[in-house]
Amino acid sequence: MEHNQDEDLNPYSEDEDQNETKKKTDGDQTKTTTGGTLSNLHSTGFKDFLLKAELIRAISEAGFEHPSEVQVNAIPRALEGKDIICQAKSGMGKTAVFVLAILQSIDSKKPDPVSALVLVHTKELAYQIHREFERLGKYLVSVKSQVFYGGISVEKDRERLTEDPAIVVGTPARILDLYRRKYLKFDKLRFFVLDECDKMLDQKEMGRDITEIFTKTPIDKQVMMLSATFSKEVRKLASKFMQDSEEILIDDEAKLVLEGILQYYVNVREDQKNKKLSDLLDNLLFNQVIIFVSKVERAIELNKILRECNFPSLTIHSGLNVEDRIERYKQFKEGIGRILVSTDLFARGVDMEKVNIVINYDMPKPLTDKQDEIDTYLHRVGRTARFGTKGLAISFVSSPDELETLKKVQERFVLKISELPDTIETDQYMNQS
Ligand code: AMP
Repeated sequence: MEHNQDEDLNPYSEDEDQNETKKKTDGDQTKTTTGGTLSNLHSTGFKDFLLKAELIRAISEAGFEHPSEVQVNAIPRALEGKDIICQAKSGMGKTAVFVLAILQSIDSKKPDPVSALVLVHTKELAYQIHREFERLGKYLVSVKSQVFYGGISVEKDRERLTEDPAIVVGTPARILDLYRRKYLKFDKLRFFVLDECDKMLDQKEMGRDITEIFTKTPIDKQVMMLSATFSKEVRKLASKFMQDSEEILIDDEAKLVLEGILQYYVNVREDQKNKKLSDLLDNLLFNQVIIFVSKVERAIELNKILRECNFPSLTIHSGLNVEDRIERYKQFKEGIGRILVSTDLFARGVDMEKVNIVINYDMPKPLTDKQDEIDTYLHRVGRTARFGTKGLAISFVSSPDELETLKKVQERFVLKISELPDTIETDQYMNQS
């Protein structure tokens, strides 16, 4: 069964004391809370996790010198086989937590088919995680990963499943479809991962699919749930999937202020946005920029205008077919096209390390009653300053509602967003090589 609606935009379709680690036991759940920075980490190396030599080699080739704070805290717990709920800010290496834990724990010579299942909410994120399994699992030649999502022929999926991948990454609707057709079996499953889990569980239909998939998997398995934001409701829901879980919080939400990101707003009338945008693109220094708009039609139109003005722009939105989406994702990831116009499809999880500027051409709008526009702001802006680099976020404000959203963002994340000054020093938002 394929869902009509898309899996992205609308429902369905991280001072000394800060780095202190606090542990407390709460019912049958253990909590670890730390300040979320990259400093003071250099005493720990990936070797301290006693990982397989094949993994250490791939980690080194990936250019990872030291584990990030979330990795230092979560990888040992994950390797113990504990269920974990892991909250850490965007871009601090959450993916490698479960990717490394799974690759380390799976039999490297003769892994069972579908030993691990990773569910995510968009096709692009599924593809990105699958690629991370391939990159870090490069020297574990018998451990195969495959990715499955809607928009691709189910029969092609069936063929790929005959290769018995040990790791399956996908979006819930397609995974459930493959299960119901008996193409996919979960009887050997040992790892169940939900990435960007609040985004997944707050969507009714997606939540239902996830629950159904979950009930078809063996009771004895390790559950890992990860996200930058966890609302109270989602935390409660998530706990239903876990046994004796450990909660790892790299900073609390109020401090999830996106370190390293310079944030400004601009008061601009709707009919002056294009002129302002073009001025910014002409005057700011950037490696890559993501411009967020509210609707697919606006993404298409704005991209057209930018291209007409000779800006190297491309767009990704849910109106494209899946091949086009993945192709454009790859192009942007490889740096072909330096400006990406996107809907909220790209607001979460997607990792583009060269992006140093995010522009909210339209401020985020509320999505569901549990997922608000403030979370979306955090996730959108988190597309820059990945892994401790610098970044700049500029929000266009053109209505009282958008001004209200800006106010709420500042209250929730305890930060001050000032009006864009006439000049900004480049070294404030761009890493100098
Ligand atoms: P994530 O938060 O998982 O999306 O990761 C953000 C970026 O950081 C990705 O490009 C990762 O490849 C990269 N990354 C993850 N862990 C490390 C590490 N220990 N050292 C350097 N880069 C890393």
